[in-house]
Amino acid sequence: MLRSMARKFAEQEMLPTLRDYERQRKINYDVIKKMGSLGLIGAHIAQEYGGAGLDYTSAAIVWEQLSWASWTQTLISLGAGVLPGTILMNAATEEQKQKYLPPLCRGEIIMATAAVEPDAGSDATAVETTAVLDGDEWVINGTKNFISAGGIADVTLVLVQTDKSKGTRGLALIAVDKDTPGFSSAAVEMVGDRAGDLASLGFSDCRVPGENLVGQVGRGIQNSLTGIDTARLFIAAGAIGMAQSCLDACIKYAKERCQFGKPIASFQLVQEVIARMQAETEAIRWQVYYAAELKSKGLPHAKELSSAKWLATELAVRASAEAIRLHGAYGCTDDFPVEHHYRDAILSTILGGTTEMHKLTIGRELLGINAIV
Ligand SMILES: Cc1cc2nc3c(=O)[nH]c(=O)nc-3n(C[C@H](O)[C@H](O)[C@H](O)COP(=O)(O)OP(=O)(O)OC[C@H]3O[C@@H](n4cnc5c(N)ncnc54)[C@H](O)[C@@H]3O)c2cc1C
Repeated sequence: MLRSMARKFAEQEMLPTLRDYERQRKINYDVIKKMGSLGLIGAHIAQEYGGAGLDYTSAAIVWEQLSWASWTQTLISLGAGVLPGTILMNAATEEQKQKYLPPLCRGEIIMATAAVEPDAGSDATAVETTAVLDGDEWVINGTKNFISAGGIADVTLVLVQTDKSKGTRGLALIAVDKDTPGFSSAAVEMVGDRAGDLASLGFSDCRVPGENLVGQVGRGIQNSLTGIDTARLFIAAGAIGMAQSCLDACIKYAKERCQFGKPIASFQLVQEVIARMQAETEAIRWQVYYAAELKSKGLPHAKELSSAKWLATELAVRASAEAIRLHGAYGCTDDFPVEHHYRDAILSTILGGTTEMHKLTIGRELLGINAIV
């Protein structure tokens, strides 16, 4: 029921207007509100905080079905529940949870999480944005890059260094409201994500109350990782949605498009493309569900989730490129629902940990040797 509800929503509420939002590079706030009222934004958030309280497999299926229409519109609509939502669930005080989570789940506020910086990408421990306690206020200085919803978020959880001499034990997460003096954002244009928002953020003597600390000082990375782990799963599920959408579009088009007096579906080379896309999508979908099931049960899942994230996102890149080829020049236009997946799929291989970092996680799990320390 959940799968068909999410798919119907993707078909009826997202796909028909997606091209206009992408062309205008605008966010569809109506869709965010509707997703909130259907309980899709906080699918995995506990019911006592306004979420739907679903297990990770069910929530991953929601991501898969919505991304079938648009991964980027899914990211901007559900993203607040994923990184900030999961972090708050795991690390925030009861008061902070009650303050942020219910309106976030209803789609009334948007939140972002800012970890990455110009010199701290895959190595998130290299954070240089500082937060110094001055009386009962934190004073934040620094820059963050490539932050999803960074330009529109009402509140951003910022990963900061409180004491460089302590290394990772100095890292902490602090909530910053968008209208705080000293906070600024600048839009980042990317190859995809055209119906979303990506921004770089600046903090210049930005003062926030001491109580905005989320979790403990010294737990910033660990608390961020709870959100990143969830993000990896949903990014992988969304990538399966993109691959399935490309497959569906190819099946339809191959039967309609005629060349040499026949539908192109009758050519064996065309059938091979469709057969491979089907076989890979189905196989990797089960890897994603398997990782989701382990995570739902609280079982170790690092190598299974890294495998899922790597394979699913790279599949979306391959499937969307093949789908464009199969549609010929028409596939290069936005008249068919494949080229937007091609622009978005490559992004999915980077956020939530790059393909290379996930290969290293699998290596570490199997060999017991961490290649990056
Ligand atoms: C669409 C999108 C949304 C994003 N949203 C957010 C957000 O909301 N919040 C946030 O904090 N960040 C966000 N990011 C940033 C994202 O987390 C980083 O881009 C990512 O962690 C990689 O960092 P980097 O881009 O600096 O690449 P780098 O870390 O500089 O990597 C460059 C290349 O080197 C490779 N590499 C690096 N280290 C190693 C190694 N040890 N071994 C082998 N290869 C290596 C990488 O795999 C990659 O191919 C987003 C990015 C994108 C594209």
